[in-house]
Amino acid sequence: MKKLTGFIKYTGKMHLETGTSIKGSDNDLSIGGADSIVVKNPITAIPYIPGSSLKGKLRSLLELHYGKYTEKKYEKNGTEITIGSPCTCGKESCFVCKIFGAHNHPGAESAPTRIIVRDCNLSNKSKDTIANLLLNGKNYLEVKAENNIDRASGKVGSPRFIERVPAGLDFNVEIVLQVFEGDDAEDMKAKIKEGLTLLENSYIGSSGSRGYGQVTFNGKWSDEEEAKDKGVKDAVSG
Ligand SMILES: [Zn+2]
Repeated sequence: MKKLTGFIKYTGKMHLETGTSIKGSDNDLSIGGADSIVVKNPITAIPYIPGSSLKGKLRSLLELHYGKYTEKKYEKNGTEITIGSPCTCGKESCFVCKIFGAHNHPGAESAPTRIIVRDCNLSNKSKDTIANLLLNGKNYLEVKAENNIDRASGKVGSPRFIERVPAGLDFNVEIVLQVFEGDDAEDMKAKIKEGLTLLENSYIGSSGSRGYGQVTFNGKWSDEEEAKDKGVKDAVSG
């Protein structure tokens, strides 16, 4: 067993530069409702960004950037197709498996997964913005119609209605790195930071190629350990 020596935390804000749609499910989707709705807290109906979405996006961007994905081959209509899927190597030397967990590889030597990505809730300021809109009887979510053009006929099909969280709102971000004996904490921090920069150039959620989901990050590493003794602090910040 590896010894847990401390925690380092990245806290900050994710700012939506464009409308963002992270798909949720609506069990009682009514007629006339949106075809695709955003993830919301079932109690408050306020949207949030699931930690799993942010984690998955950081992982896949870093895998692409470093060529760390596992190639999977399969056959379709007699043609061999190769797709990239999450790294399964599970090697101690693989930062992807170490930070994000070895995909489909229980008991990997890289375990345990170092990263914890919390669900990103709306900032208090953004909650106030929403509350004001609601008080004035306005909806704070955008419903955007996307036309489908039928390539064969050239006709515009019936539009799909996609719900989006509007640009301008901020979500709180908290990423925790668990540091184990022998880990290079600075390198892990650098990889996460790099992932966040890659994400700023990419998108979160759906329809990124159509301009959805552009985000910017503003945060910092606390480097303050939750473990109490000073020895831990030195090990982590060293
Ligand atoms: Zn790996």
